[in-house]
Amino acid sequence: MAVIIDGKQVSATIKEELREETARIKKQHDTVPGLAVILVGTDPASMSYVRSKHIACTKLGIYARDYQLGEDTTEAALLEIIHELNADDAIDGILVQLPLPKHINEDHVLMAIDPAKDVDGFHPENVGRMVTGMETYYPCTPYGIIKLLEYCSISTEGKHVCIVGRSNIVGKPIANMLLQKSPFGNATVTVCHSRTPDIAYFTRQADIVIAAVGRAQMITADMIKDQAVVIDVGVNRVEDASRKRGYRLVGDVDFESVKEKASYITPVPGGVGPMTITMLMYNTIASAQRRIRTSQK
Ligand code: NDP
Repeated sequence: MAVIIDGKQVSATIKEELREETARIKKQHDTVPGLAVILVGTDPASMSYVRSKHIACTKLGIYARDYQLGEDTTEAALLEIIHELNADDAIDGILVQLPLPKHINEDHVLMAIDPAKDVDGFHPENVGRMVTGMETYYPCTPYGIIKLLEYCSISTEGKHVCIVGRSNIVGKPIANMLLQKSPFGNATVTVCHSRTPDIAYFTRQADIVIAAVGRAQMITADMIKDQAVVIDVGVNRVEDASRKRGYRLVGDVDFESVKEKASYITPVPGGVGPMTITMLMYNTIASAQRRIRTSQK
C-alpha cells in the first residue's frame, strides 16, 4: 500500500515559511509583496480560484488586489490594466486567470505582462529561461509537484518519469523542469498525449508517472509498475448522488487500485491542488525579494 502524499500538509509547511518571510521583509524593508489577480467573466470555478488566491495572500501578509472584469471587457481595456500594473511598484506579481473569453487573445495578454512580474511563469521569455536552465519563475503547478517530490525525498535523478499530458500549463513545463541539470531534474522523461498509441506501454516502464490529462481515473493499476511513484494532477467532476452538490472530485488516476501497487501516490483532492496556490505565493515573494535587491543596488 502506497504512502499517501499529503499536499495540504506540505503546503501548510511552505506557507508558514512564506509567512515568516513576508514578516521579515516588512520589518527590515518596510514593504510587502503585492499580487494583482485579474478575472474576466464570471466562470464559477475561476471565481473560486481567485477567492482562494486572495485568502492565501491575506493569510501570508501579501497585499492582494483583485480585478473582476465583465465578460464583455475588450482586449484593449485588459491590456491597459496590465500596462498600469507593470508600472505599479506596489505590485510584484500579475496573474490573469485563464481561460479568457474567446474574443480576447490569450497570447497577447500573456505577452503584455512584464516578465519580471510574471509569477505564473507563462510569458515566453520566462518559458525560454526555464528551458535553457536560467533563473526564472517556474509555473506553479509543476513547481508544486517538484516540491512534493522534494518533501518526500523522492529523487528524480536517473529515474524514468512518464508524463501523460502536454499542456503549456502542466505537461510541457514539468517535462522541461525534470530534464534540467539540477537537483530536481536529471530525469529521463517521456511525454504521452492524445496521439500516443499505447500509453500503458510507456507508463509501465516509468519509475514516476505524472498524470495531467483531465480524464477521470484514466490511469489504472495495470498501467503502472510495482512501487512506482504516482502524481495525479487531474481534477475531474464525476456525478455522485450521495453528495449534496451532486458530484465529487476525482483525479486522472484510479486512486483505489493504484494505491495498492504504487510506493507513493497523491490523492485528489488534497495532493497537487493545494500546492499550486502555495507556489504562486512563493513566486510573488521571490519577485518582491528581487525588487528589494534591485532597489538596493
Ligand atoms: P489540457 O486539457 O490543457 O491538456 C490535457 C492534455 O492531456 C493534452 O496534452 C492532451 O493531449 C492530453 N490528453 C487528453 N486526452 C487524452 C487521452 N485520452 N490520452 C492521452 N492524453 C490525453 O489540461 P491541463 O494540462 O490544463 O490540465 C490537466 C488536468 O489537470 C485537468 O484535469 C486540470 O483540471 C488539472 N489541473 C490541475 C491543477 C491543480 O492545481 N491541481 C492545475 C492545472 C490543471 P493533446 O495535447 O494531444 O490534446
